[in-house]
Amino acid sequence: MNLRAKLHRFTYYLFPGQCILCKNLTYRQLDICLACESDLPWLRNCCPYCAEPSADILPCARCLQKPPSFSATLSGFEYRFPINVLIHAFKDSQHLSSGYVLTHLAYGRHRQTLRNISGQDLLVVPVPLHPRKSRARGFNQSHLIAQQLADLIPAKLDQTLLYRVIDTPDQKSLPLASRKHNLKDSFRVKRDLKGDRILLVDDVVTTGTTITEISDSLIQSGASDVVVFAVARTPPSQPMMSGLLQ
Ligand SMILES: [Zn+2]
Ligand SMILES: [Zn+2]
Repeated sequence: MNLRAKLHRFTYYLFPGQCILCKNLTYRQLDICLACESDLPWLRNCCPYCAEPSADILPCARCLQKPPSFSATLSGFEYRFPINVLIHAFKDSQHLSSGYVLTHLAYGRHRQTLRNISGQDLLVVPVPLHPRKSRARGFNQSHLIAQQLADLIPAKLDQTLLYRVIDTPDQKSLPLASRKHNLKDSFRVKRDLKGDRILLVDDVVTTGTTITEISDSLIQSGASDVVVFAVARTPPSQPMMSGLLQ
């Protein structure tokens, strides 16, 4: 057990957990009670590539037509109430326990797969924010999720491998057709990867444009495989609606 995990256990020894949703005591080392946990909109059937929720587990039409450069997306939840509210609180009000709980639960959902892909050559890499946005917000939410994941798996965290080169207008304010163009050349990979495998971490995958762009760059830089981890995935019917809530 590493220092962070010991500290976490000690904190719960001193202060009992309180549910981030119903505010009752949780009687466990996690700030969500079992009843609220089971009521969450867990992601069930989805496309194995992009994790878009669907009625079955077959690839979605888009991934069938053009398979992405990443081999899978592991996600815990559908991005709808109360996940959207919790992620909003995590990102914009620095409600860190919401981020911690959701990451922990999404990790638990994919524990075996993540263990199977762990190894010396696996790098856990957060999707970077532009430094100006990171300064305004005080932190990069994907970095915190990636750090927690790297501790849980365990695997190596590399938070400086990717960086942004231009400030892009918020993706959510743009129509889908402009998003890809808007992101063009906005991410860079700092070094050659020599066959490393990447676990690319984001808080929410909405259209998949960002992760596709980054994954393509990682493969071009020599990554042998990219797997995406996102706490939540937007359902197909309401992409703009959930975008407004981000
Ligand atoms: Zn509760
Ligand atoms: Zn898909």
